[in-house]
Amino acid sequence: KSVIGHLRSSSILSDLPQAVEELICNSLDAGAKNVCVEIDLPSFSIKVEDDGSGVTRDDLKMIGERHATSKLHDMVDLESGISTLGFRGEALSSLSDVGIVEIITRVRGSPNTFKKIIKCSKKLSLGLFGEQRAPGTTVVLRDLFYNLPVRRKMIQTSPRKVLQGVRDRAVRLALIHPDVSFKLLNVDRLESLLCTKSCSSSLDRLCEFFGKHLHHELSDLYFVKNPWKVDGFISKENSRCSSKAVQFLYLNGRFVHKTPVHKLINDLFQNRRNSHELENLLGCSFSLATAKQVYPMYLINLHCPLSTYDITFEATKTAVEF
Ligand code: ADP
Ligand code: MG
Repeated sequence: KSVIGHLRSSSILSDLPQAVEELICNSLDAGAKNVCVEIDLPSFSIKVEDDGSGVTRDDLKMIGERHATSKLHDMVDLESGISTLGFRGEALSSLSDVGIVEIITRVRGSPNTFKKIIKCSKKLSLGLFGEQRAPGTTVVLRDLFYNLPVRRKMIQTSPRKVLQGVRDRAVRLALIHPDVSFKLLNVDRLESLLCTKSCSSSLDRLCEFFGKHLHHELSDLYFVKNPWKVDGFISKENSRCSSKAVQFLYLNGRFVHKTPVHKLINDLFQNRRNSHELENLLGCSFSLATAKQVYPMYLINLHCPLSTYDITFEATKTAVEF
């Protein structure tokens, strides 16, 4: 059984940045307003601390066992749609197959802090934690990939790439959660990789991460055609980028990539399609760039009925079919 678990989990959790992302998503699902992440590559450990809902002692008993989730109760929930970032109850149990998971948590209003340690989807210990913490949850993942030497080697040979991967994932979550403050620290070098206070809009976050000039290079995008809604920011006529670095598409707040919509927007901006199509799509007029190798910058959130798309193709949940 543990071999099966190990094989499954190693395909679900392909790398360290993905592990970090799963933990941050859990904090966001718990309504956290402050998320603090510490990465310690030499000791293969990750710590994510939040001020979210915390976990009750009863829920804590279940958590970390395969498919234990508090976010999905029956098939009706799955059919009517998934609005939280997590829903499969797979992250913590998978993480515990490739490392040791420690959860320290306190629910608001409770005098007690609890700690649970999980390995191979099984409880190693659960009990009161000696120190009192503020309401919220800290998840520590230790000894990541202790049983996957090649993945460890990949981390050791290109630590910068790994840290960049973690940062990229934190950035795309931070952009769509502007009200949440994020800190990301590389413990090994005591280096801050990301530190952003809560702000009022995704545009402020974009400017913080990619430069103040975006304020006048992007215009608002807002378009409703019931039950669909599109909102966000997109390049004005003459502002383009030579790379796809500032292209962020979300589906009901979940980051997605390589969808037909990405291609559509690029094609439209590169004048490969009729401009009427773009006008119809966005509900406003645009003059199109003629140069081929320029890309529009955008941050777009598509609000779609949950029944109109499926994101459960890949474990990472970034591929989508409409
Ligand atoms: P999922 O997110 O798909 O439900 P996970 O394995 O990621 O599955 O988490 C399992 C459960 O643990 C969640 O449903 C949630 O109840 C609880 N949990 C995990 N992390 C946190 C957190 N930071 N704050 C509160 N609850 C959490
Ligand atoms: Mg989760």
